[in-house]
Amino acid sequence: MAKYDFFVIGAGSGGVRSARMAAGFGAKVAIVEDHYLGGTCVNVGCVPKKLYTYASHFRYDFEDSRGYGWSVQQPIFNWNTLRDNKKTEISRLNTIYRSMLENAGVEVLTGHARLLDANSVEIDGTAYQADKILLATGGWPFVPDFPGSEYAITSNEVFDLESFPKSILIVGGGYIAVEFAGVFAGLGAKTTLSYRRDLLLRHFDRDLREKFTTELERHVEVRLGSEIVEISENEGGVRTVKYADGTEDLYDCVLYATGRKPRTGNLGLENTQVALDSGGFIQINEDFQTAEASIYALGDVIGRVALTPVALAEGMNLARTLFANKPSTLDYSNIATAVFSHPNLATVGLTEETALSEGKQIEVYESDFRHLKHTVSGREERTYMKVIVEQESDQVLGMHMMGADAGEIIQGFAAAMRCGLTKEQLDNTIGIHPTAAEEFVTLRTKRA
Ligand code: FAD
Ligand code: NDP
Repeated sequence: MAKYDFFVIGAGSGGVRSARMAAGFGAKVAIVEDHYLGGTCVNVGCVPKKLYTYASHFRYDFEDSRGYGWSVQQPIFNWNTLRDNKKTEISRLNTIYRSMLENAGVEVLTGHARLLDANSVEIDGTAYQADKILLATGGWPFVPDFPGSEYAITSNEVFDLESFPKSILIVGGGYIAVEFAGVFAGLGAKTTLSYRRDLLLRHFDRDLREKFTTELERHVEVRLGSEIVEISENEGGVRTVKYADGTEDLYDCVLYATGRKPRTGNLGLENTQVALDSGGFIQINEDFQTAEASIYALGDVIGRVALTPVALAEGMNLARTLFANKPSTLDYSNIATAVFSHPNLATVGLTEETALSEGKQIEVYESDFRHLKHTVSGREERTYMKVIVEQESDQVLGMHMMGADAGEIIQGFAAAMRCGLTKEQLDNTIGIHPTAAEEFVTLRTKRA
């Protein structure tokens, strides 16, 4: 029976990074995958999603070019071209993932893995022995159960639709819902977003959420405080959606973006001491170790921060701890994140609400302006920036932005915040003119 130092289940962001690094430190490593190399991010997540947001943004570029003197004939969008070019690119990435792993000396296995006990894994009837096992099995879209829920698709299917829907209903108010609302509206579908609460993107800063909702409503019908009670299918595949307020509407496609659940089914956990928390996530200690000492877990399946760079950081941290004798505790503070909506949102650090709820005395600086580009393009879109500063220490606690390339801009400030950025240091930074980003270093007036 093959025997490994490290056996990784799940070749997504966290698993691949951990496996490669462990092999680099000299461990004998295998990784097993039952769907696609690269996991969610590469196949049905970050990468295809970002490609589709690029595709959708062209609409606005065509429109904006007119004020700059360009005459653009009515542009025609072809879904099949986008979808098929995306497939080609993802296949290329799958191949690269395989060769990266193999070149690092990792044995790549295909199939569904189940734990047999604390040190062995079974794949299609073959057993493998390992000193240490890593569960990096990620998550899976969740659709609530209600009459006709089977007529809804999820982010797993949306990238590969046979034909482009003329109308789409997107349900949810988180990252995936608002990103795909932007994608489909930009590509030309009549887009409706239905969310159960009063304001989208619950965990973001309230000002950002309010300003973003105004922007989204320029392109998307946004139904807040909205609940769906039934979906039925008509001839030709059109869906009738009944809302709790008694209204109904027809859509070519209904996408549920109502969160993701950890993927732990049929994993053989019952053969081990591995325990789950109340949300079904794998319970771990500070060192990513489960209740079974030889079994570790990280990434989306542990339910901390479901972002690719976090899974990568966890994977590296674990490999260093186990195989390079460099134990360290991962610092989860000030993780920057972006929503690739239209316009983009990005944020790092505390929201105003969290800072206040933690009892901090704060000052708020903000700017709400029309981007230079749109003075001539004529677009009404606003750009918004907000900085939250701790009064006593002058420390920057949070930075928030809505506007073009917000993710690109906030990334740099996230590095500065990690170095302990103060408002005085921001003020002493000389801007790059003319950019939107320079606004962050020229905010002088406190909000009253
Ligand atoms: P995954 O990447 O999900 O990998 C887990 C792998 O394990 C999968 O390939 C799965 O098939 C495999 N597996 C599971 N069980 C078994 C088993 N028993 N045997 C064998 N293989 C198994 N994050 C960002 O940072 N930026 C973004 O822009 C972004 N966009 C996203 C867009 C969408 C639509 C979605 C769904 C997610 C997005 N994310 C984004 C989140 C990001 O994709 C995840 O946080 C990240 O992929 C988590 O990595 P992971 O290694 O934990 O799991
Ligand atoms: P989110 O957790 O971000 O959002 C889920 C949404 O669905 C919330 O608005 C939630 O409402 C709503 N919801 C949950 N259950 C129900 C229900 N039963 N009925 C109606 N609505 C419901 O999950 P996503 O699926 O959007 O994305 C999953 C994760 O993937 C994200 O949290 C993020 O970590 C990651 N991701 C990151 C991206 C990025 O970095 N750009 C892009 C896409 C995903 P409520 O607010 O009331 O809880």
